[in-house]
Amino acid sequence: MSTLPSDLEIARAARIRPIEEIAAAAGINPDALEQYGRYKGKIDPTRLDAPPPAGKVVLVSAMSPTPAGEGKSTTTVGLADSLARAGHKVMIALREPSLGPVLGMKGGATGGGYSQVLPMDEINLHFTGDFHAITSANNALMALVDNHIYQGNTLNIDPRRMTFKRVLDMNDRALREIVIGLGGPSQGVPRQDGFDITVASEIMAVFCLATDITDLRERLGRITFGYTYDRTPVTVADLGVQGALTLLLKEAIKPNLVQTIAGTPALVHGGPFANIAHGCNSLIATQTARRLADIVVTEAGFGADLGAEKFMDIKARIGGLAPSAVVVVATVRALKMQGGVAKARLTQPDLAALEAGVVNLQRHIHNVEKFGVTPVVAINRFSSDSAEELDWLLAWCAAEGVPAAVADVWGRGGGGDGGDELAALVAGAVAGPNSFRHLYSLGLSVEDKIRTIVQEIYGADGVDFSVPALKRLADIERNGWSSLPVCMAKTQYSFTDDASRLGAPKGFTIHVRDLLPKTGAGFIVALTGAVMTMPGLPAVPAALRMDVDADGNPVGLT
Ligand code: ADP
Repeated sequence: MSTLPSDLEIARAARIRPIEEIAAAAGINPDALEQYGRYKGKIDPTRLDAPPPAGKVVLVSAMSPTPAGEGKSTTTVGLADSLARAGHKVMIALREPSLGPVLGMKGGATGGGYSQVLPMDEINLHFTGDFHAITSANNALMALVDNHIYQGNTLNIDPRRMTFKRVLDMNDRALREIVIGLGGPSQGVPRQDGFDITVASEIMAVFCLATDITDLRERLGRITFGYTYDRTPVTVADLGVQGALTLLLKEAIKPNLVQTIAGTPALVHGGPFANIAHGCNSLIATQTARRLADIVVTEAGFGADLGAEKFMDIKARIGGLAPSAVVVVATVRALKMQGGVAKARLTQPDLAALEAGVVNLQRHIHNVEKFGVTPVVAINRFSSDSAEELDWLLAWCAAEGVPAAVADVWGRGGGGDGGDELAALVAGAVAGPNSFRHLYSLGLSVEDKIRTIVQEIYGADGVDFSVPALKRLADIERNGWSSLPVCMAKTQYSFTDDASRLGAPKGFTIHVRDLLPKTGAGFIVALTGAVMTMPGLPAVPAALRMDVDADGNPVGLT
């Protein structure tokens, strides 16, 4: 049994300052801060007395992860704390955790060890209610659609061709496929339906890509939720409910301010899946942070092949962002796993496996360079890492000409000296020239955009489209959606679409089995392999160790 304190114990023992103090130190004028209790607040960007966005963006991404996660959030928090410690004016922009993974496999998602955002338990549970608002907006749309069909269906909506589902912020496999409207003529029109998890909702993606509330309303109006009997797309604007949906989101769209253990301000806002969506916090939060700080440290989900590529080609394009540096988080244990070591043996020193697995990191580094951005490798130190392994990895990075540092922000806290070296490297990269570029131009066909991503980023020979996907490509062309960027839905564990092929495979093809136009978010999802939009709970869910003590304190949130 480990004697180390848990993330929750560390978070609860930390000194937490009233949110108005954090806001004042971040330069937020009092009338732009709306307090949610003592330690959380929302920032109203329209009332913020600050210049337009100018802060530099540092994106934290990673090598291909192990199932446990490689510490991107931990590194994001620790790096920002270390930059603050070095005297930089810095702010964090992070995703909000989803209750599904919190109660299921992963536990909390607010960083770990001594690099966490606070109040950890509240952020991981209901926080400021944003996900509730997004769930309500999504389900209001579906109630309005089904009512429209019941009331005579003047839009001629085909109930068999609905592309939108109801949502819940929960892992609940029993709701994946359901039938609604049973019970006779007064109970609605029966049709096959289902639930997705809230973070997979297009409304979440729209929420996170909107530039302001007017843009949010327009994007909501552009969502295609289904097709008519003659296969014409039907949008939220056709139904005329984009105003009501925006109204339901008008408070949620304001970014949430919290603090790290070291007192660094953090905006934690929005949280789309990194498979079916683009996997980063709201653009409004990133831009608000860029108005307040010189450096904004933000994170994208999964490895750099997915999260970073989507950040660069989707979010950065919509927001006009040009990231100054990309931190690629790597761990010795994940590299050994990429080198073929089984999960149970990752804590044993194994230089040969490290050497075999480092090709995975190498491909991610080269990928980041394709965007014209400087990569910095952060080696997130685990207590099981041997000195030989860490030294070998640092020497390998030096030989590759990539700046790299071992970061012990989990164990020592970014507010301590665990991330000083990493912060110095990142500050150096940020101060250098910025030659950011997108990977592909929007003028390419959807087919060619996908081909570019799979060849340039995944290292594939090419792409194979299924018959339904080819048909969908023709529909996309016909409906005038060809100029949208592509959002790849692929396993995060491999560069290929087969999760078991680790390292840096060559000589493979990516199989696109379907394409989902997300016309509100403004991208085309390319589905490769099976993609879960409503996860299930594991055999032993994290919820089994959770509790509340007699004083109302949380227990077991990892
Ligand atoms: P990611 O953002 O990549 O999913 P997180 O930062 O959320 O990863 O970390 C996942 C889990 O791993 C957390 O419980 C965290 O406490 C733990 N963790 C992260 N870094 C370390 C480390 N260096 N040593 C031990 N545990 C760590």
